[in-house]
Amino acid sequence: MKTIGLIGGMSWESSLEYYRVMNEAVKTRLGGLHSARILMNSVDFAPLRELMCAGDWAAVGNALADAARTLEYAGADLMVIGTNTMHKVAPEVGAAVSVPLIHIADATAKAARAGGFSRVGLLGTVFTMEDDFYVGRLKEHGFEVLVPEAGDRKLVDRVIFDEMCRGLFLDPSRAEFVRIIDSLAARGAEAVILGCTEIGLLVRPGDTRVPTLDTCRIHAEKAVEAALG
Ligand code: GLU
Repeated sequence: MKTIGLIGGMSWESSLEYYRVMNEAVKTRLGGLHSARILMNSVDFAPLRELMCAGDWAAVGNALADAARTLEYAGADLMVIGTNTMHKVAPEVGAAVSVPLIHIADATAKAARAGGFSRVGLLGTVFTMEDDFYVGRLKEHGFEVLVPEAGDRKLVDRVIFDEMCRGLFLDPSRAEFVRIIDSLAARGAEAVILGCTEIGLLVRPGDTRVPTLDTCRIHAEKAVEAALG
């Protein structure tokens, strides 16, 4: 079994989920007392959030590239960045190490393809929904991508940073997310990507009529697949 390097802490609520899903996936595959070989470099999210808001993505990239180098030095055989948004700097992180980086949008695209979907909705931070690094990557995989209207994009982003990344998973926000997911389905989305690693903790599979794709779970399971070969 290879050792997974997880760049975590963004937020640590979702890093817990990565840890749980990776260990469950190893247990499912190998049984018995087997558990995942994981190294986690859990960063302090607050200064990174300030850099994001200031638009200083070069500094974000440097910080996460450093985190990745530390993981490789410690023995990680493959790398995952445990957040969708920070894949904005995935090229810089990937270039900093010699081990493979498993891109969350590639893993999600594969899962969506396996589900037989070609038109997908996407919820995430404003960076994930509006910048090209994520939507463009999904389009390269052949998907048509629908995002919420501007007002709802703001709402989703606010709930991510003001609530979920602070450990708050609230019923009124769940209801809003379900409403937004339903509206994407009404516009033609065959499935909706929960493109923020905390959303799967708020919106559970039974909450929506349309299928959802939980990027945290998909990414964590993909890492285990790569670790076990
Ligand atoms: N975990 C979130 C994501 O998957 C947001 C936190 C971040 O900006 O990294 O995008």
